[in-house]
Amino acid sequence: MVMGNSLSAYRFKCIDCRKEYETIHWEHPSQRICQSCIINRRKKQESEEQAKKKENRLQEDLVDILKKYGALTRGELVEKLNKPRTTIYDNLAVLMKHDIVKTFSKKANGRGRPIVYFHLNLGG
Ligand SMILES: [Zn+2]
Repeated sequence: MVMGNSLSAYRFKCIDCRKEYETIHWEHPSQRICQSCIINRRKKQESEEQAKKKENRLQEDLVDILKKYGALTRGELVEKLNKPRTTIYDNLAVLMKHDIVKTFSKKANGRGRPIVYFHLNLGG
C-alpha cells in the first residue's frame, strides 16, 4: 500500500520471521527485523546468558567441592552436586581444558580397571 508522496510506507520482509510489514521510517527497509522478532532475539540472548551463568556457577561448585574433598570420582561429583551426569562431564571438560582440574587414576586394590579421580590443579 502506497500512501501518497508525503508519507511513504515501505514494505519490508522481516529477516527472522519472513513476514511482510510496512514501515514509515526513513531508513532503507531492506534489512529489517520486526518488533516481535527483536523481542524474541533479546529473550533468546538473555536465556543464553542465563544458561552460561548457570554453567559458570556449576563450575564454581565443582571447584568448591574439589577444594573441600581433595579428589573425587565423576560418580561422586554427580552424586554430591546432584546434577545430570552429562552436565557434570561437560563442565569438568571445560575445567580440565583450562588446567583448573586434573586427573589421576588409581587401581582399586591394586587391580582391575583404574578409577579416575578429579582434583584441583595446585600449580604443580
Ligand atoms: Zn519478524
